[in-house]
Amino acid sequence: MFIDGQWVSANNGAFFDVFNPSNGEKIGEVADGDRNDSQRAIEAAQRAFGPWSGLTAYQRSEYLYRAYQLMMEHREHLARVMTEEQGKPMKASRGEVQYGADFLLWYAEEAKRVYGEIIPAPRSDQRFMVLHQPVGVVAAITPWNYPTSMVTRKVAPALAAGCTIVLKPAEATPLCAIEVFKILEQAGIPAGVVNLVTALNPVPIGETFVTNPLVRKITFTGSTEVGKILAKGAADQVKRVSLELGGHAPFIVFEDSDPIYAAKGAVLVKFLNTGQACISPNRIFVHSSIVDPFVEEFKTRVSRMRAGSGFEDGVSIGPLVDSAALQKVERQVSNALDNGAILVCGGRRLLDDNLEKGYFYAPTVLIDVTPEMLIYREETFGPVAPIITFDTEEEVLTMANDTHYGLAAYVYTHNLSRAMRMFEGLRFGIIGINDINPTAAAAPFGGMKESGMGREGGRDGIAEYLETKLGGFSV
Ligand code: NAD
Repeated sequence: MFIDGQWVSANNGAFFDVFNPSNGEKIGEVADGDRNDSQRAIEAAQRAFGPWSGLTAYQRSEYLYRAYQLMMEHREHLARVMTEEQGKPMKASRGEVQYGADFLLWYAEEAKRVYGEIIPAPRSDQRFMVLHQPVGVVAAITPWNYPTSMVTRKVAPALAAGCTIVLKPAEATPLCAIEVFKILEQAGIPAGVVNLVTALNPVPIGETFVTNPLVRKITFTGSTEVGKILAKGAADQVKRVSLELGGHAPFIVFEDSDPIYAAKGAVLVKFLNTGQACISPNRIFVHSSIVDPFVEEFKTRVSRMRAGSGFEDGVSIGPLVDSAALQKVERQVSNALDNGAILVCGGRRLLDDNLEKGYFYAPTVLIDVTPEMLIYREETFGPVAPIITFDTEEEVLTMANDTHYGLAAYVYTHNLSRAMRMFEGLRFGIIGINDINPTAAAAPFGGMKESGMGREGGRDGIAEYLETKLGGFSV
């Protein structure tokens, strides 16, 4: 763990093992922290808050820029650690390291643009001035599916704003977080400003984060279920909360689009990170008049995908994170088949070619999926593409919005008016119109409804770490 500028063991001396999900081999041991360690880290962050927030934005920016440069220098090493620990193919790991570094660069710049405001006052002898100040100590919890970029997506805006931070990474991927913190250390960031607490059991750490009054902000990326626990806990002390939670993205293909082009996009985004992405399409709606060519192209592309170790050339499907993830996918597929869905391809765990030691599931396509099926309602987080047909724009908009999630949605159409109607009508925080990658460090990322609150990235991302203060002056 990294606390108060030092690499330290857990207070109780415990460690936990980290495994490669492709083959089940142990790849490391990490300090197993508890309440005491997280309290120590929070206290260190509190001590560092005054001096760090007292630096000029230009000085904080320098540190972030140095971290960005170091991350780019160590890009290949960071990608290798990620492929070994998380399982994604090297190409995807390299892309994620770049995405992670982008947040450091973007917030190195944005640190200098935390402007205030002068507001015309109602009285002639009065002046109004608005200042933005850092919220204080931030506690952050990150997931395993994007184990590097989710760390920088929180650390960079927090530091830019003048906050200090304690971060707990997912227990499946602490090594990626450790590598990012080595870079923050090398960048010379002062002791206590960034702290890392690793733990096998997240519960006591989460409880410390919500109960310690020194923590003024909780930022969390993970499941909706855990997000609700943290939000309820944070309510007791009215701490600021940002939540990036689950998704259930609709992918809508209208009859005026090219079904071949749309199928190519749908396959690329559906199987990204083996479907383990919060913005992964979970319901693919295709107009009935073009469903046949769409499914044909989709199936052809899926059958060319190869599963295996992310270090092998040509592999695009990595393992699922654990056996629970595998069971969830198996349960959703068998429930869909029992209720009348048709299996186009896949539909089984992969056990051949030495894959039996990992949690590999064949990329799967289902058609004739209906609202009664589990997969129509639940987030899948795996390589299963459920295809549903529709006939009218009104009908598909209603179906797409019929979910308590609201993170990402995708629309394929060549009709500009329809594109605008869908952009306005879909109740989701991120809409890709003929675009499967509507994300970047400069753009606000986040969800509506039970997909979360607050935004990460862009101008909105730094606002999450700032208080607004009004000054009224009588002159
Ligand atoms: P998870 O909620 O189980 O775990 C996420 C993090 O929360 C981990 O660090 C874990 O240790 C911690 N955690 C678990 N229980 C906790 C508790 N009781 N108290 C405090 N911390 C606790 O989620 P997961 O399975 O690791 O991640 C997958 C989920 O994350 C999916 O639902 C996915 O959609 C979501 N996700 C969302 C985004 C986004 O930006 N919206 C990005 C990535 C993942």
